Amino acid sequence: MSILVVGAGISGLSTAWALTKRGVPVTLVEQGPIPNPLSASGDQHRIIRRAYGSQGGYQRRIGAAYAAWDEMWDDLGSKHLADTGFMLLSQVPGDGGEVYRNGLIEGGYPFENLSPEETAERFPFIDPSTIRYGAVSSEGGVLLCQRIAADLKNWLIANGAQVQEKTKVMSVDGSAGSVALADGRVLVADHVIVTAGAWTLGLFPKLEISLKTYRTAVVYLTPPADLREPWENAPAILDPGGSNDGYVLPPVAGTGLKFGAGVHRYRAEPDQDRTAREGEGEQLRDYFSPPIARIGEYRVDDVVTCAYTFTADEHFFATTDGKATVVSACSGHGYKFGAVVGQKLAEGIVSKEMTRAQTWLEARD
Ligand SMILES: Cc1cc2nc3c(=O)[nH]c(=O)nc-3n(C[C@H](O)[C@H](O)[C@H](O)COP(=O)(O)OP(=O)(O)OC[C@H]3O[C@@H](n4cnc5c(N)ncnc54)[C@H](O)[C@@H]3O)c2cc1C
Repeated sequence: MSILVVGAGISGLSTAWALTKRGVPVTLVEQGPIPNPLSASGDQHRIIRRAYGSQGGYQRRIGAAYAAWDEMWDDLGSKHLADTGFMLLSQVPGDGGEVYRNGLIEGGYPFENLSPEETAERFPFIDPSTIRYGAVSSEGGVLLCQRIAADLKNWLIANGAQVQEKTKVMSVDGSAGSVALADGRVLVADHVIVTAGAWTLGLFPKLEISLKTYRTAVVYLTPPADLREPWENAPAILDPGGSNDGYVLPPVAGTGLKFGAGVHRYRAEPDQDRTAREGEGEQLRDYFSPPIARIGEYRVDDVVTCAYTFTADEHFFATTDGKATVVSACSGHGYKFGAVVGQKLAEGIVSKEMTRAQTWLEARD
């Protein structure tokens, strides 16, 4: 049996890793370098956390996600996860921070409740007059994406997988199990797994009924000097409350302080508008006041644009047609499941029961 994997974001790299571990010959094809800075997996860091609000299926799958990462750290000989924990803030009743916190309560998962004053005492970058409460969980952290990708690439090559960077797939033939490359070659395998992220619709336009592609951006900031240390010791902020659907990654393990906001996105092609607009960093930064105090003192260092796909209800998506399976494990929250998604797809291939992988990914139970 031989498998072709199209796209070396975290889904493709992990699938290649899990197949290689099961003794399956793999060819992994990536249009850019690995890591590809344009991919959703190519930024410095991503959050892993238990809280999932109304998507209880994903909340219950976090244990499996952690187990898969642990297996990967063993193989890579290095743990690329900073265990910072995570924090929720609520500014108004029913906001994102509150929805996530209710999900933790319903699931029976432990966390610490903090008053506004206690929150600001522990995390002095928060303005206590702008929040109703804070909630902190120790079960969560920051995945170091660029290091994971670089190490996975080296692990794959060392373990016999074929890794082809800067090799673009132009089309996939599911009945033949083949892909046509931009350089004119055709590669054939027993099965093709397409993990092409925001570029999926370029290969499978008919999937537009299920997948929508968006452009967003995140900002890297330098905080005021007296807040540098508190930020270095801060948890990831899964939701700062209010209506911006924001999140913050602390500057850990050599990474930068990053702010991003779910409201800051629009429909676009994956290669469209990949240069930040004038003032976009300040716009992203200013979404965070409230609840971040002294926001104007944060210096904008960099703005990174991103492209990603969403399903209507933000559950993952997988479909098999003949010898091709297309996977979209994104909807803005898929990185944390990267390692376990790879395992589920590899199990599906080996057992020839891809529907089990599909059911697991969709997480409706
Ligand atoms: C701003 C932002 C913040 C996020 N925050 C979080 C978070 O905190 N926690 C979390 O868990 N998730 C988060 N996510 C989601 C997470 O980043 C994605 O779920 C995950 O990275 C998707 O990985 P992927 O491998 O499926 O896709 P991608 O990482 O996009 O990889 C697809 C790869 O396929 C390659 N490719 C595409 N087409 C072709 C082709 N034709 N030929 C060859 N190669 C091709 C691309 O170059 C790319 O490298 C966030 C996403 C964004 C955009």
